[in-house]
Amino acid sequence: MSYRHVLIAVDFSSASEHVARRAIGISRRNSAVLSLLHVVDYLPPLGFADDLLPTPALLVNEKELIGHGMASLETFARKIDLPADTARHVRLGAPHQEIVEFARTQGVDLIVLGSHGRHGLGRLLGSTANSVLNHAACDVLAVRITA
Ligand code: AMP
Repeated sequence: MSYRHVLIAVDFSSASEHVARRAIGISRRNSAVLSLLHVVDYLPPLGFADDLLPTPALLVNEKELIGHGMASLETFARKIDLPADTARHVRLGAPHQEIVEFARTQGVDLIVLGSHGRHGLGRLLGSTANSVLNHAACDVLAVRITA
């Protein structure tokens, strides 16, 4: 069985480059589509109910967050020489949820992330890695990060 769509989830921690290189290698060997995703850890302000229209200030703010995330992805992509046809995506929300949801809706069959990122080097797995492993409907590769 070969993978058809490989997703790299990056948080720009020091291990991200190592994680991305593993994913690039796997996607090449499988001739798979490759996507790069960063989630801006973001919760809408309290009191923002579904039946309320978002205020323009909130929308501008969210657009800015996505813009910053996209700029960081571009810098990261240049640094690691990411294949030019790799789609870059930024989502706002809780990282573990957005990664799982992205994979489910975009037909990803392998998620590649670090065993650790910005959280929890002291534990066996970081909180994002642990939650994605528990909830993803596809294979997940947690690349071992030791420091
Ligand atoms: P953590 O479990 O939060 O220490 O992070 C483990 C791995 O999850 C990281 O090495 C990244 O591959 C991925 N990850 C964590 N946060 C994000 C994020 N905000 N956006 C995309 N991927 C993330």
